[in-house]
Amino acid sequence: MDVTTAATLSGLAGVAIGATAILAARFTEREQRAGPPTAEPALPAGVADVLAVLRSSGIVLDSSDAVVNTSPAAVVHGLVRGHELVHAELRHLARQVRRDGVIREAELDLARAPAGQARTYVRARVAPLGSAHVLLLIEDMTAARRVDEVRRDFIANVSHELKTPVGGISLLSEAVLDAKDDPEAIARFAGRMRVEADRLARLVTEIIDLSRLQTVDPMADSALVDIGRVVGEALDRTKLAAEDNRIELVAVVDPGASVYGDEDLLVTAVHNLLSNAVTYSDVNTRVTVRVSRDQDMVQVAVTDQGSGIPAEDLGRVFERFYRVDAARSRSTGGTGLGLAIVKHICENHGGHVAVWSQPGHGSTFTMSLPSAQRLPDIIEPEPARHEGTP
Ligand code: ADP
Repeated sequence: MDVTTAATLSGLAGVAIGATAILAARFTEREQRAGPPTAEPALPAGVADVLAVLRSSGIVLDSSDAVVNTSPAAVVHGLVRGHELVHAELRHLARQVRRDGVIREAELDLARAPAGQARTYVRARVAPLGSAHVLLLIEDMTAARRVDEVRRDFIANVSHELKTPVGGISLLSEAVLDAKDDPEAIARFAGRMRVEADRLARLVTEIIDLSRLQTVDPMADSALVDIGRVVGEALDRTKLAAEDNRIELVAVVDPGASVYGDEDLLVTAVHNLLSNAVTYSDVNTRVTVRVSRDQDMVQVAVTDQGSGIPAEDLGRVFERFYRVDAARSRSTGGTGLGLAIVKHICENHGGHVAVWSQPGHGSTFTMSLPSAQRLPDIIEPEPARHEGTP
């Protein structure tokens, strides 16, 4: 393999470690055939070229542990300062390799900066390079590890959330057996079993919806969707709950608004916002859904006059299973997944969702989606509005 080929391969993150390790082994053989060096030998030819294009961190140490060459990433990630390898753990590995010539691999948890709590997780591969140098190849695994942690947390949350209704159904069925001579008690327990079974069904459906949203690209089958129709369908699905709570539903829709996407998913997103607005509002209040558009985007804003959300929770309400008031969410049959689903649907459509809220004054959730039609560049100014104009 010539140096150029090795350099190109090394630029590809996945191949980098293998390619450079082979290169290192070849240099070692060549150096050994050439006999023992008299002074500190020069860095084998080509190594600097490989390091220059390496995406991950590559570092070469000389016989006194001084850094003689690095890839740019090694400096950017704070592994090298001047001619010094910053982390004692890496220096220790390099010394072991220099002592016995055996290639070593290790996963290390390193301090991101000399002072401070932040950690960085790396996979290091250390190999002899020629007779005097040691090569360290270091991959940053921090992001991959974070994804793993999020996945583990999600699985733990799902198990916990599923256990609650399943446990409830199991206890209630025992209560039904014990009350076999009391028809009134049986009817009461059966009613509560139904509530728990409904919660379980909703939870399972939403978990499946969410994981599908994260794996399937809804834009693959995207069609032109009339947002007025989406809002109409979402309002229909919310009507009963609104009537039960004596909440007035109001829609103000720009009739020309349309986007490319999946109509069912968009109805789900708007319905989730409307359903929350109704759930977290008091009786005799109003929920408004407003569709508007500007140059590039269509906005669907759902506003309520409900309890509002404290500022410290606003940034977290789109997280899976996050609830501001867990007891209230459970008592209303909430799963804690509704807003996470809205967020994924918006992002899958190339848009986003934002929230404004003030405790005691209500909330507005606004979905912004790329518009299917661009408005003409020059927009007629709206007629001036005066105080008292409806
Ligand atoms: P849930 O099923 O619990 O409603 P969501 O993901 O839909 O889950 O919402 C997360 C949390 O955000 C809710 O538990 C609630 O505390 C808060 N929330 C959502 N929408 C509103 C709203 N319109 N008004 C007040 N709080 C809200």
